[in-house]
Amino acid sequence: MKASPENQRTLLEIADLDRRAEQAERARTQPAEGVRITELAGLRKQQLAELTTLAGALDDVRAQLGRVESDVALATQRRDRDGDRLASSTDPKQAQALENEIDSLSRRISMLEDTQLELMGRVEEAEAAVAAQQALIDQTQSEGAALTAAAKTSMAAAEAEGERIARDRAALAGAVAPDLLAEYERRSARGGIAVGLLRGGVCEGCRMVLAGTDLTEIRKAAPDEVVSCPECGAILVRTEESGL
Ligand SMILES: [Zn+2]
Repeated sequence: MKASPENQRTLLEIADLDRRAEQAERARTQPAEGVRITELAGLRKQQLAELTTLAGALDDVRAQLGRVESDVALATQRRDRDGDRLASSTDPKQAQALENEIDSLSRRISMLEDTQLELMGRVEEAEAAVAAQQALIDQTQSEGAALTAAAKTSMAAAEAEGERIARDRAALAGAVAPDLLAEYERRSARGGIAVGLLRGGVCEGCRMVLAGTDLTEIRKAAPDEVVSCPECGAILVRTEESGL
């Protein structure tokens, strides 16, 4: 294949733009923040499940406290009523029975009040645990929101960069002979190195030092002959720096 040396050199610029386009595409589709954002989403799910457990425990202890409070109220009511009846009682036997019941109710109330105090302490602890968990979730959420915003900004920047690169590439590609461009694209599509500069006897596509016999062959080729790197198969672009 024949192509002007100038066209061949332009392939190097196109290859550079293609590499930058790939980087921009990666930055657009896989922003650096992505991994942490996914981690945070998982973390938030765990934290919400833990919050549900803690809120359930708080409800339970509140319900227990409610039952004890109503027991205290009932026992107190009954003791007050016994007290009233005792005050108006004229029957010594009945008075004795009332006194006994008042004593027993007072002991019960005192025990219930101890339990009530303990439960109030546990309600406070459970409330603190729920609040602390909510604070953790808020923190996870705000870190996630900040990272998502940063990712959106960098993705938009990468998209704009990709568009600029595409415009530059189109301008360069328009100046290259179609058959040479097609050859470059064919080699590129194979996934390997499509074009490399020969500098000081080294192919910059694969970084290999070319053998003397290969260099002799390349030296013989006319400047408008398209030559390939014997090591990596890239189109080998020759300049004054090629060491030929
Ligand atoms: Zn090579």
